[in-house]
Amino acid sequence: MNANGKMDTFSIIPPCPNCNNPGQQVNIKTVRSLINEAMAYYVAELQCFICMSPDCRTSYYTKEGSYFDNDAITVPIWFKEQSPVPICYCKNIRDEDILEHVSKRKCCTSIEDIQNHTGANTGKECLTRNPTGK
Ligand SMILES: [Zn+2]
Ligand SMILES: [Zn+2]
Repeated sequence: MNANGKMDTFSIIPPCPNCNNPGQQVNIKTVRSLINEAMAYYVAELQCFICMSPDCRTSYYTKEGSYFDNDAITVPIWFKEQSPVPICYCKNIRDEDILEHVSKRKCCTSIEDIQNHTGANTGKECLTRNPTGK
């Protein structure tokens, strides 16, 4: 524990072992929900992080230096793939779907419209569906 009463280990984010860029900590529940069953064994009790570099093929990694490629998880990571990619994992909305509302059908001109028409960002399951857990 440090002075703030938080666990010290939670404030230390190791860089991605593959590209060396800083990642973000991911709730272990998220990792367990999305990682392929065959890989689940490896993330049993570990802290997991997600690589945030669009060009790096590493998805999750651990403090111990294990890492998994993008194929190890069951959904595409939106910032690492080419369009169409999921924008909202809870409601299964892709960037294409939003674009269609905005520029093709021209029925949506605001975030509220998009939420109302597609349900994007109205889900509550990000923790187990979105690879970042947010
Ligand atoms: Zn990386
Ligand atoms: Zn619309």
